[in-house]
Amino acid sequence: MTHAEQPYEYRRRELVEPDWTRFPGWRDATREQWESAQWQRVNCVKNVKQLRAVLGDLVDERFFADLTADQDRLATMSMLVPPQMINTMVPDTEPTTDTFYADPIRRYMIPVASDRRADWPSHPYATRDSLHEHDMWVAEGLTHRYPTKVLAELLSTCPQYCGHCTRMDLVGNSTPAIEKLKLTLKPVDRFEAHIDYLRGHPEVRDVVVSGGDVANVPWKNLEAYLMRLLGIETIRDIRLATKALMGLPQHWLQPDVVEGMERLARTAARRGVNLAIHTHVNHANSLTPLVAKAVHTALDVGVRDVRNQGVLMRGVNATSPDLLDLCFALQGETGILPYYFYMCDMIPNAEHWRVAVGQAQRLQHDIMGYLPGYATPRIVCDVPFVGKRWVHMVTEYDRELGISYWTKNYRTSIEATDTEALDRRYAYYDPIDTLSDAGQRWWARHGAAELASVPA
Ligand code: SF4
Repeated sequence: MTHAEQPYEYRRRELVEPDWTRFPGWRDATREQWESAQWQRVNCVKNVKQLRAVLGDLVDERFFADLTADQDRLATMSMLVPPQMINTMVPDTEPTTDTFYADPIRRYMIPVASDRRADWPSHPYATRDSLHEHDMWVAEGLTHRYPTKVLAELLSTCPQYCGHCTRMDLVGNSTPAIEKLKLTLKPVDRFEAHIDYLRGHPEVRDVVVSGGDVANVPWKNLEAYLMRLLGIETIRDIRLATKALMGLPQHWLQPDVVEGMERLARTAARRGVNLAIHTHVNHANSLTPLVAKAVHTALDVGVRDVRNQGVLMRGVNATSPDLLDLCFALQGETGILPYYFYMCDMIPNAEHWRVAVGQAQRLQHDIMGYLPGYATPRIVCDVPFVGKRWVHMVTEYDRELGISYWTKNYRTSIEATDTEALDRRYAYYDPIDTLSDAGQRWWARHGAAELASVPA
């Protein structure tokens, strides 16, 4: 009798730091330089010219022209990619034009014009602040959406800018396509306003400290802010959001940062507060021994847990083998708990990345049963005005038009007087190119009218 194969075959893969000297621009970079956070920051790639200097003639002009076209017309994020991240693109060999184009990390960190859809680059309902975080600010940078939790955006910069950033409205430098919102308060006043609000709202027990990326807050300021949070009796959970744990692990390995984290973890433990780090890894190739070292260092000094919140994207990770490879590399090799995969949000020019709710449901189905239950991530849809919903929680789903309807069980801070908030159904939209011909024809007829009704 022949045995049918399993849909996914687990094979342990040990982490490897790819050889950065395969890039012409880093032929002479020493290990000491590579492991220095300052060297990494100074050598970040911020524009086409710098990328050309790194890649030399490995990648031909066609790619750079495509990248320039994207930067000039479509990009919602400016370029900022640390060497650590570029080194995980085409990790096993010198890149060529074709392999660089095809690389999953390149596809979301260095998007080019030909990646995007020409038919529907944006969904008619795409918006700059698709989660309405800014609408729910109770102080500058402090979003109160869920009853017991807040999101504290301490700053609007990161050590790396991701092409699909959901906070593209606020985070990073303006691009020709997007003029960014600016934080206006001085950091010291912004932080003070957060602390005041939290002291006055004992129902908030959980603070996600984010940005941007907390790795860009000068360490002394971040530690002072966190110590003040730890001084508020009613705060029981603090989660630090930093993609830099993967994108710039050198930052989290600096002695002053490690010592500061130890002081914070000790204080949190003494007060019975759960202090965790949340990071953002989208592909197994991003995980290297240096990332694992940064994670284990944080755990060694007493951080309670390191968890991953990835983003599900076509061309990057939206297959069950890619998700399972990533989760096993996180869980088994790096010490990071696979926690969530978010569906890519409905921001402008992101349709080529977004997946349909139906596909997300299939992926959730297909990754069940391989990982330990506690390390099996949930795939969630962040529904505008609702919040995170597990993809199987959809109330109704019109697959032809790609419109799913969701409900919620709490009021956000802007619905205190809205008596219908809990009875309403909230819509989410699949990418139009994934719909049947009939569905696509409907949107072609109605899309412009729908667009006209989108609030600015
Ligand atoms: S690290 Fe996070 S906040 Fe910063 S650009 Fe990437 S997705 Fe946006």
